Amino acid sequence: MNQTPDPTKSDATIGIDVGGTGVRAVAVLADGQRAGKVHRAPLKSRERSEVLGRIVDVVAQATAEVSGTVAGIGVGLPAFLELPEGIVRLAPNLPELNGWKAAEELETALRCPVAVENDANAAAFGEHWLGVGAGRDPFLLLTLGTGVGGGIVLNGEVLHGRRGMAAELGHITVYPDGAPCGCGARGCLEAHASATAIVRMFMEETARMEEAAFREVYGPREDVTAQALAELAARGDTPAFTAFARAGTALGIAVGTLVHVFDPAAVALGGNVAAAWDLLFPSLWEELLARASLSLRDGFALLPASLGSDAGAVGAAGLAWRRVQTA
Ligand SMILES: [Zn+2]
Repeated sequence: MNQTPDPTKSDATIGIDVGGTGVRAVAVLADGQRAGKVHRAPLKSRERSEVLGRIVDVVAQATAEVSGTVAGIGVGLPAFLELPEGIVRLAPNLPELNGWKAAEELETALRCPVAVENDANAAAFGEHWLGVGAGRDPFLLLTLGTGVGGGIVLNGEVLHGRRGMAAELGHITVYPDGAPCGCGARGCLEAHASATAIVRMFMEETARMEEAAFREVYGPREDVTAQALAELAARGDTPAFTAFARAGTALGIAVGTLVHVFDPAAVALGGNVAAAWDLLFPSLWEELLARASLSLRDGFALLPASLGSDAGAVGAAGLAWRRVQTA
């Protein structure tokens, strides 16, 4: 495995994306062409040995499709990492990984150079390499799912900050006295623009409805999802529409701040919630124009991400190429 890669051959790196419920992998050639399909393995438990075992499984499956050498492996983890050592400081959805010397143990298990990265950073790198961010620098990605993640690519590199904790864009304050956030603070973007937040805001919008009337229209409260609300909003349901519009406003405030700091060429929105682009965009753009109109001239782009749920794995493969090419 561990040979010098020759980009003119069919050598590939393998990118891994570790999520809270499963692991996915894809092999990618140096020119960005995929060398095989995306392999997935669900996590049967959240133990460290299970995560490592499933990573080894999907690497074996992806390796079988590579006709040349596997030059390196990139792993995106849903965690705050300490870099450059590659140690998991905090993995909110996979707490068994806390304290894991991920880079070191993965290199031993996979017998290959390994680059570890925060999953949202890996997705941003992927979108910048092969997706909507190609040729756009600085490039910022916000991933809107259960939480809100972020990644920043600056001069072609993931922005890590001092110890790898940069670009936690979900925890930018948008409302100083806003809703409580999982991080312990209040009014974070995540608390006003995640899927969880959209459901909460919908409940606020419908708080005055009689319970029976609510159930007749929307079903049991506990079954309401952001995805279902997106469908309702698109069909003209006012409370659902308002919940998305409020999320768009919060995003506009956050993106306005980011535009002032980075003067980016593009900001992209990814993740499941971003599929409701048409619902988020009007209030987002209105708020952004009100806060940062000067910076939006001359080609700034606000765009939906284009790699979907593969962005993290593709980006991890790109980071592995970066690692072996600069080693
Ligand atoms: Zn927060």
